[in-house]
Amino acid sequence: MSESSTGSTVSGGNAEREVVDLCRDLIRIDTSNYGDHSGPGERLAAEYVAEKLAEVGLEPQIFESHKGRASTVARIEGEDPSRPALLIHGHTDVVPANAADWTHDPFSGEIADGCVWGRGAVDMKDMDAMTLAVVRERMRTGRKPPRDIVLAFVADEEAGGTYGARYLVDKHPGLFEGVNEAISEVGGFSFTVNEKLRLYLVETAQKGMHWMKLTVDGTAGHGSMIHKDNAITELSEAVGRLGRHKFPVRVTKTLRHFLDELSDALGTELDPENMDETLAKLGGISKLIGASLQNTANPTQLGAGYKVNVIPGQATAHVDGRYLPGYEEEFLADLDRILGPNVRREDVHADKALETTFDGALVDAMQTALVAEDPIARAVPYMLSAGTDAKSFDDLGIRGFGFAPLKLPPELDFAGMFHGVDERVPVDGLQFGVRVLDRFIDHC
Ligand SMILES: [Zn+2]
Repeated sequence: MSESSTGSTVSGGNAEREVVDLCRDLIRIDTSNYGDHSGPGERLAAEYVAEKLAEVGLEPQIFESHKGRASTVARIEGEDPSRPALLIHGHTDVVPANAADWTHDPFSGEIADGCVWGRGAVDMKDMDAMTLAVVRERMRTGRKPPRDIVLAFVADEEAGGTYGARYLVDKHPGLFEGVNEAISEVGGFSFTVNEKLRLYLVETAQKGMHWMKLTVDGTAGHGSMIHKDNAITELSEAVGRLGRHKFPVRVTKTLRHFLDELSDALGTELDPENMDETLAKLGGISKLIGASLQNTANPTQLGAGYKVNVIPGQATAHVDGRYLPGYEEEFLADLDRILGPNVRREDVHADKALETTFDGALVDAMQTALVAEDPIARAVPYMLSAGTDAKSFDDLGIRGFGFAPLKLPPELDFAGMFHGVDERVPVDGLQFGVRVLDRFIDHC
């Protein structure tokens, strides 16, 4: 745990010291989300966060959407309360972890090899802790942000946010009165290109989602007979076609901007039609970028039949479909064409896509804060292939960015940390994040 050598931290180092303990404490509070109410819930985490905020003079409120499913919201007064407010939101729930698979217990918050280990270390108790550490130090030293900041530490993001962000947006929209912009998870992390350049990927777009059920109706019959109307045969062929289909690369605004920045950085023109080569240069983040080039539809479940000599009258499959912003219609038309007229397609769950431009004062504040702490930093936009709570807040007209700043060692498979085994965050990455976040707030 090295002290900052820059000597330029505005927070005087207290937040950098505190962030590690805050992160470990949060990891030790098991908030596993199983997609129903069978987990421990987020109540203890909500209370922990509220206590940490109240200690420094804020007035946090806890909202419980269902027994044990609690979120904490607080408002910090800025220098100019007439300006629109900034929202910093983070979820406190985590996906479950099987301790037997891990090197260190996933709920121990252990420090080893320069990292804090545990479920939530990057998704996203790290950012929760960074936010708490920065806010606490600013409150203790009376350093007001330039405008109001709303803090929301929410439940249930890992299961779609119904009992967290979605609940607050639907039932308590007044909490976010006057908020126009937000920052949160899955962005702001580094990718080291060479010794002269480190990219920080700021998330400006998210793919939309169609989780679908496919059904084929056929005629039931005896398995020994000649049978031309077999639901399983028809459905399997359709699922096979869909699973093998290569959706075309589509150059969204975000991809264009990302490729331009990267081409400039690498000094070579990158061709979106020949992305295999480009992705190979992106190491660990190629997983993140690869899925943002095109729509995808992955078959994930199959169901039919109950006895070997009975032809069932129906067969079903489930498909996880994700579409690029602006390409939903094309996606649905492609699906219908690929599946054919005998397959019935219905949504089990759908969510919109998001895309905002990579410009404006808030983006400038990110770049300024990053460069102050890392002279070879360059912020670039990217698209997340999944979704976050930003989609719920978008319903209130809040423009969201993924900006949870982390400087990472080049060898760490950061994308693989999300929901992965041995999730961990470098201690100095957390401390870097605290310094950047503090500077960012100065300029927000
Ligand atoms: Zn997350």
